[in-house]
Amino acid sequence: MDATLALAMELIRRPSVTPDDGGCQAHIAGLLSAAGFRTESLVFGDVTNLYARHGDAAPLVVFLGHTDVVPPGPLSDWATPPFVPTIRDGMLYGRGAADMKGAVAAFVQALLEFVRRHPRHPGSVGLILTSDEEGVAQDGTIQVLRTLAARGESIAYCLVGEPSCNEVLGDTVKNGRRGSLNGDLVVHGVQGHIAYPERADNPIARFAPALQALVSAVWDEGSADFPPTRLQFSNIQAGTGADNVIPGSLRALFNLRYAPTTPAPVLRARVEEVLAAHNLRYTLTWRLSGEPFLTKDGALKAALAHSIQAETGRLPQYSTAGGTSDGRFVAPFGTQVLEFGPLNGSIHKVNEAVAVDDLARLTRIYQGTLERIWVP
Ligand SMILES: [Zn+2]
Repeated sequence: MDATLALAMELIRRPSVTPDDGGCQAHIAGLLSAAGFRTESLVFGDVTNLYARHGDAAPLVVFLGHTDVVPPGPLSDWATPPFVPTIRDGMLYGRGAADMKGAVAAFVQALLEFVRRHPRHPGSVGLILTSDEEGVAQDGTIQVLRTLAARGESIAYCLVGEPSCNEVLGDTVKNGRRGSLNGDLVVHGVQGHIAYPERADNPIARFAPALQALVSAVWDEGSADFPPTRLQFSNIQAGTGADNVIPGSLRALFNLRYAPTTPAPVLRARVEEVLAAHNLRYTLTWRLSGEPFLTKDGALKAALAHSIQAETGRLPQYSTAGGTSDGRFVAPFGTQVLEFGPLNGSIHKVNEAVAVDDLARLTRIYQGTLERIWVP
């Protein structure tokens, strides 16, 4: 059996629902240390992270991934049990097959093969794995990066193995991500009897036109690299539970996925302008969950594109669409960050799967990327 496939199955067999690692990282550390990697388990809170490195010189190229998975959902909806890896019609089924134990297995095999072929390679190669990507992501990659930075270990190139492809392997590379800004808004009114509205101040009625203004606002037009900024509400609540009471307040949660053309401080000011224009009394708490980033042309982009083309015959499209990933934590350190992994059609769903053939191809693409970084 192909070594990447065997390792992917071994990882799926370990139920590692976030933030649990299920022993995946210890298994991988064993494989890498036997091949001469220095490996280190970095534990923060209840999160386990693995850092492995081969070589001491710069530049350092790191593969970044996670061993945790999202919960399987109702077991009865799965054709085969989520933590029993199953091959059917050329597909490997199991929770994490596509997001992202398949890519993690490909990373490990690519690193093993690379150091076997080039024991005295220039620069350094490494792997960072966290068990906290699908959860709150506070004790995972960000803490590992802070630890490395404090030691003066800098990462020149980072390839994230998140499932980036849409229709066929090789069609899409993520070369950046939009920023993500969360707002927690409380609109204040005055509670009262619903039959005496003149003695109350209804925050629902007050907020309705502001809500409409916010969701229909055009924040920017996007750019060549980024789709336009969008604001979406995720929650809105008010009410005391009684049908004869005007509530005293309303709470609404919203998120802006934004392009770098409109920075977060500008968005905050514009949202607050809209609220002020509607004469609201409010409390608004902001939380920035990720700055936008864009990786321009460079050694990593060229090496990955050539490797994808050599394996699949196609050149990838570049995209900054979709949700955030741990790449957002790496880019602010000045690292060139790209994301490339398998097809994303089944991720977080029941019957998650990855094509068996794609695992071997992904391994060759990752290995080829390491080789081409030094010999373009
Ligand atoms: Zn993932």
